[in-house]
Amino acid sequence: MRKCVIIGAGPAGMNAALYLKRAGIEPIIIEKDVPGGEMLKTDKIENYLGFESISGGELALKMSIQLKGLGVNIIRDKVIKVRYDDKFIVECEKEQYVSDYVIVATGRTPRKLGLRGEEELTGKGISYCAVCDGAFYRGREVAVIGGGDAALTEALYLADLCSKVYVVVRHNLRASDVLQNRVKAKENIIVLKNVNVNELKYDDKLSNVILDDGKTLPVSGMFIAIGRMPELSFLNEIDLEMKNGYILTNDKMQSNIKGLYAVGDVRYKDYYQIVTAVSDGAVAALAIREEV
Ligand code: NAP
Repeated sequence: MRKCVIIGAGPAGMNAALYLKRAGIEPIIIEKDVPGGEMLKTDKIENYLGFESISGGELALKMSIQLKGLGVNIIRDKVIKVRYDDKFIVECEKEQYVSDYVIVATGRTPRKLGLRGEEELTGKGISYCAVCDGAFYRGREVAVIGGGDAALTEALYLADLCSKVYVVVRHNLRASDVLQNRVKAKENIIVLKNVNVNELKYDDKLSNVILDDGKTLPVSGMFIAIGRMPELSFLNEIDLEMKNGYILTNDKMQSNIKGLYAVGDVRYKDYYQIVTAVSDGAVAALAIREEV
C-alpha cells in the first residue's frame, strides 16, 4: 500500500516526486525506461532557467541524481493497467502497486506517418529521434519529415553529422523564426515545401523515399517529427475526461477522477515545455499535500 504512485519519470513526474518527498509523503515512480522522458531525445536545452545550454541527457541525469539523493525510489517497470477498487491498483509487468493517489506523467509518444513499411523499418532506416539514432547515418543523406520546432531541431542536429538533410514539409514551416534562421544558415539542409512522402523503397533497409511530386530522395535515414500524442491505453478502465487525446485537469492537475492527477505532456494545455511540466508536477504534489 502506497500513498502516491507516479507513473513516468520525465521532468513532470520527477518534480512531483521531489515536492511530495519534501512534504513528507513517500512517493514511488514507475518508469519503463531510464528517467528523463523526452529530455533524453533533446540535444541542447537553452530555455530552462539556470542552464544557459545543457544537453537533455545531462539535465535528466541531474534531476534523477537529485531524487536518488533524497531517497526517492524510481522503479523500472511498465504499467499495463490502472484500475480503481476503493484504492488505485497499478498493474505493471513485474509487480502490482496499490495507492491512494496516482499521478500520470507519461508524456507523449511520436505520431506515425502510417506508411507501408514504416513499422518494420523502424530502427532500419526510420527513426523518431535524431539524438538517439543520428550517429548511424554519419556522412549519409537523410530526410526529416515535419515543419515544426521538433523537425527543425532534428534537422539542425543531423546537419552536423550527415552529408545532406532534406526537410519534407507538407504545407509550410511553422517552426520558430530562430530555428528557421539557423536552418537557412546551414548549406546542407534543403527544405522541400508542399510535399508529402508517398512511398518508402527498401529491401531490409530504407534506400529511397518517394515524394508525391514524383521526386526521389536517395536517403538511408528518415526521421519523422510530425508531433507527439499521449499513449494512455493503460487507463482504459478509468472513465477519464479527455480532450483531443489528452487528459483534462483543473488548475491543481486533478482529473475528473478523485485522486488521479495528470502532469506534463499528457495533460490538455497550451504550452508543452520542460518548465511547464516541472511546474505541473509541483502543483500536483502541493495539491495532494493539502488533501492528505
Ligand atoms: P508541431 O508544432 O505540431 O508540428 C508538427 C509538424 O508536423 C507540422 O509541420 C505539421 O504540418 C506536420 N505534420 C503533422 N502531421 C503530419 C502528417 N501526417 N504528414 C506530414 N506532416 C505532418 O509539433 P512539434 O514540432 O513536435 O512541436 C510540439 C511542441 O513542442 C511545440 O509547442 C514546439 O514549440 C515544442 N518544441 C520546441 C522545441 C524547441 O524549442 N527547440 C523543440 C521541439 C518541440 P502542418 O503544419 O501542415 O500541420
